[in-house]
Amino acid sequence: MSESKLATSTHTSILPVIGLTTRYLDTTDECAALGVYIRAVEAAGAIPMLLPASANDEISAAYLDHIDGLLITGGDDCDPALYHEERRPETQMPPKLLDQYETVLIHEALKRDLPLFGVCRGIQILNVVCGGTLYQDIKAQVPHTHNHVMRPPYCDEAHKVQILEGTPLYELMHDELAKTRAQLGVNSRHHQAIKDLAKGFEVMALSDDGLIEAMYLPEKRFVWGVQWHPELMCFKHPAHMQLIQHFVDACKH
Ligand code: MN
Repeated sequence: MSESKLATSTHTSILPVIGLTTRYLDTTDECAALGVYIRAVEAAGAIPMLLPASANDEISAAYLDHIDGLLITGGDDCDPALYHEERRPETQMPPKLLDQYETVLIHEALKRDLPLFGVCRGIQILNVVCGGTLYQDIKAQVPHTHNHVMRPPYCDEAHKVQILEGTPLYELMHDELAKTRAQLGVNSRHHQAIKDLAKGFEVMALSDDGLIEAMYLPEKRFVWGVQWHPELMCFKHPAHMQLIQHFVDACKH
């Protein structure tokens, strides 16, 4: 038998299992995940497990029996009805199933105090499910902002964020941030952003034009969201691997 770099079945219990939300393609009834999330989680020493979008809320909730942490991945806009707004023309309606199953996953993860990390759409739906709101379109609704929809390569920096002192993200990157006056380069693939922060959350990072780009929920073990895509930067920029590693470490018992 060939030597495997991954733990054998007798050892899997020592590696945390990270549940990754899938995108749902309703025209073809497919669940899918981008490989870069899988590779980033693997590189941080965890086992990625895809959680297929389900219309059965009991099944969605039961997924959490099998994972040590939940990563809400990027993707579609959220239905503005979730934050009691009419849809603007710039907002793309997501498949209903996606909002439904991610809402169940978030509620259940918070109830169990399971580590949760939201990326891009992930921070947005986390904020909305917890009672916050979104700008449906940055360009249309927030004057004096720059373009947050970058061109590839997505592993590169698009703009800076200011990491706020006293937050756990600042503590994590302290050595790095001491050299950059707390500025961190991030990529940017979002046309929406957080408007009203959900109750209980605190801001961890602001973009150079003033948008909320990272938040956390202090009352929980680990509930963080970032507006950028660390999974696309982490193989080139160690600070972003440090962020993913920190989440994976929080998922270890
Ligand atoms: Mn941005």
